[in-house]
Amino acid sequence: MAAKKLRRIGVLTSGGDAPGMNAAVRAVVRKAIHLGLEVVGVRRGYSGLHRGDFIDMTARSVSNIIQRGGTILKTDRSREFQEPSGRAKAARALASHGVEGLVVIGGDGSFRGAQLLEAEHGVAVMGVPGTIDNDIYGTDSTIGFDTAVNNAVEAIDKIRDTAAAHGRLFLVEVMGRKSGFIALATGLAAGAETIVIPEEPVDIDKICSSLLAGLERGKASSVVVVAEGQKAGAVFQIAEKITQTGGPECKVVVLGHLQRGGNPTARDRILASVLGAAAVDALVAGKSGFMAGMLAGKVALCPLADASTKKPTIDRDALELAKVLAI
Ligand code: ADP
Repeated sequence: MAAKKLRRIGVLTSGGDAPGMNAAVRAVVRKAIHLGLEVVGVRRGYSGLHRGDFIDMTARSVSNIIQRGGTILKTDRSREFQEPSGRAKAARALASHGVEGLVVIGGDGSFRGAQLLEAEHGVAVMGVPGTIDNDIYGTDSTIGFDTAVNNAVEAIDKIRDTAAAHGRLFLVEVMGRKSGFIALATGLAAGAETIVIPEEPVDIDKICSSLLAGLERGKASSVVVVAEGQKAGAVFQIAEKITQTGGPECKVVVLGHLQRGGNPTARDRILASVLGAAAVDALVAGKSGFMAGMLAGKVALCPLADASTKKPTIDRDALELAKVLAI
């Protein structure tokens, strides 16, 4: 059966902001215009969607944004959209503006919302993975992850200078409440002595003995990268426990929102450009209910049902390698 020809699509950014979301918006808008479609931008994610807060997008409305962090469309977390009544309002707003398909740039929560909009109201939806956490199934990398990791590595390189000058131990907390992808990549790239991730139980005794052994081997400084949201407590508590268990005194640095800001890396801009355009291609081909991801260098469509529920697994070999290389 020939797919119904789309005339007008919408694009929104939702959930946590991620550097590279703007590059994805630009790609969606320009690819759609290139294919002869009209595009509306939805402000503030699903909050703007159910309020009908739409703006017409032209090729010029996305000029000069590929290099900017944050999102020009703004993002939000919407409680109303979690209710059937909020989604019904959103569907009515889309219909009244003649919008027949929607590209949702966000994380797994945003994808759950998109799935419901499709299931309950027949809106054609496509997801694009935009989150710094890299915790989305169906893609090797999410938009924003590379930038967040580079931001964290740059900060740790600076911390390392002062750590080495004083022979100090630093605990550096990075983002990743439920997943250790940022911590692992950051730790590996910054040469961390130890990496603490939510996927593994925290063994304070082991951390202490390995830090003390490092000092004995003549290490001038030590950096422990800790993902936020540890069962053993926040990074300050871990620092206290290390000292109480006979380990060295620790300085704590919480990188926090610094990791999300700044210009996206070339890698994130390219990923965002390719996936944004692929999402439009899929909608135009009559597909709906998928996320455009990148697997082994190729665009791959993953059902939103999988992208929003399954979780990618942490690379334990990389974790082991980080330990070996910290001798
Ligand atoms: P992310 O997309 O980064 O994971 P959230 O989990 O905060 O961010 O989700 C973003 C928004 O998606 C929420 O504020 C809500 O409006 C919508 N959403 C999330 N989960 C659901 C759900 N189960 N049903 C409907 N909407 C949802």
